[in-house]
Amino acid sequence: MVRSSQPLNFYLTQILSGHGNFGSYLCKIGKREVAECRYCAEPNDTPEHTMFACPRWEEVRMTIGGNISADTFLKSVTERRENFEAISKLAQNILEAKYSEEQG
Ligand SMILES: [Zn+2]
Repeated sequence: MVRSSQPLNFYLTQILSGHGNFGSYLCKIGKREVAECRYCAEPNDTPEHTMFACPRWEEVRMTIGGNISADTFLKSVTERRENFEAISKLAQNILEAKYSEEQG
C-alpha cells in the first residue's frame, strides 16, 4: 500500500490514538488473539512500545538521535516545527516498516 501521499500527522495520529497496527488494538478489535509484540517479549504491543521501546525499531529511532521517550514526545512535537517533522517522519518510518513486515 502506498501511503507516501498521506500527511505526516497520519502516523502520529495512530501513535496518539492507539488505533493502528499495534497488538493491543488488533486484539481489542478481534483481529488478533493476543496483544503481544511480534518482535520481542513484550506481552502488550502498544503505540508506546512500538514507538519508544521495542528493540526491533531501535535502528530507525537512531535516525533522529534515539533520545526520545513517551515522556518527552509530546513536549518535543509541540515545541518546535523541526521536532514535529522529525518525529512524524520517525512514526511514519516505523509504522510503514511494521506494516510491510507483517504483510509478508
Ligand atoms: Zn517489541
